[in-house]
Amino acid sequence: MTFAASDRLGKLPPYLFAAIDAKKKAAIEKGADVISLGVGDPDLPTPSHIVEAGKKALEKAVNHQYPFGAGMMAFRRAAADWYKSRFRVDLDPASEVHALIGSKDGLTHLPLAFLNPGDTVIIPEPAYPAYNAAVILAGGVSHFVPLLEENGFLPDLESLSTRVLKKAKFLFLNYPGNPTSAVATRAFFEKVVELAKEFGFFVAHDAPYSEIFFQEPPMSFLEIPGAKDVGVEFHSCSKTYNMTGWRIGWVCGNAEIVRVLGQLKENFDSGVFQAVQEAGIAALTGPQDCVGEMRKTYQERRDLFVPALRKMGWSVITPPATFYVWARVPEGLTSARVVERLLDEAHVVCTPGNGLGPSGEGYVRFALTVPAPRLQQAVERLEKLRW
Ligand SMILES: *Cc1c(COP(=O)(O)O)cnc(C)c1O
Repeated sequence: MTFAASDRLGKLPPYLFAAIDAKKKAAIEKGADVISLGVGDPDLPTPSHIVEAGKKALEKAVNHQYPFGAGMMAFRRAAADWYKSRFRVDLDPASEVHALIGSKDGLTHLPLAFLNPGDTVIIPEPAYPAYNAAVILAGGVSHFVPLLEENGFLPDLESLSTRVLKKAKFLFLNYPGNPTSAVATRAFFEKVVELAKEFGFFVAHDAPYSEIFFQEPPMSFLEIPGAKDVGVEFHSCSKTYNMTGWRIGWVCGNAEIVRVLGQLKENFDSGVFQAVQEAGIAALTGPQDCVGEMRKTYQERRDLFVPALRKMGWSVITPPATFYVWARVPEGLTSARVVERLLDEAHVVCTPGNGLGPSGEGYVRFALTVPAPRLQQAVERLEKLRW
């Protein structure tokens, strides 16, 4: 008997990383010491004061019941207060903040909440693959805009036709960016607000890397006057507090968008485990020196890895933010070929840029989510390769 997947699922683009995953597994099975710089998942543990708060919250029977809805008021207030102190953005916790099971929960349900069949979403690429997958699953159409190095990896939205801008229901943005590590400028965000108002689309800004920066702190999209009229921002404890496994994030901004997304989610999940929300409150309201230490750790890794790559002749931008290094592959090679050789000959895993969008061809992404000595080993193996 066969039980076929839905046509909807069949419409998803092929999973480009399947071949790499298989090769990686095979190498590990053969006993190879594989260094994985592929997945963007922090290797550092959740700070202990957050874990302790989570443990205490686990003991409370009231937390063992369905959490339901937009999240505990205390969590939403913690997120709003954090926005106020970090970005000077005012948010009403009751109507402008909604807890999420990680920001991916919100990002991927957003198209289902807003799209009718055939509706357009503008997606800058290369990008987190979940945006496009969610648009396809919701029956929408993705209109891609390239992120090019010569434009600072900001999409040239004015290059889009009036027809596309008018048709678009919303625009995904992600700064600091995965995979490019780029930080948006105020001028860019201002232009986005202006275009959204002119053409009637809204903005979904995915900002999980806002706290991983090595220069001026990146701004929130919601800092732009009028941004709240046309957009929401997705945020998460995942990267800031090494909490990817806990699944806690939030969406904030435009009350109507927040409400509609919440209305959709009511039909899918029953909220975020309250013990996890309490851990989130501890993260957002507790001491923040762990965030500075996290930054320092990634900066040390970056400053070990990037100059070493450059010395080998690679063209790499020093990432101003995130834990990703977006590197141009050696002249004349494809992303796929470089990833293959790195895996076969150095047992180093990285992500082919073209797997994140056609404009990622010619690049690979290294995630600096292993300790410095391990990165140093990766560097030594890379140095032995001759392109
Ligand atoms: C890691 C990441 C997220 C965060 O996902 P969570 O669901 O909050 O863990 C969202 N967007 C991008 C681009 C990411 O890289």
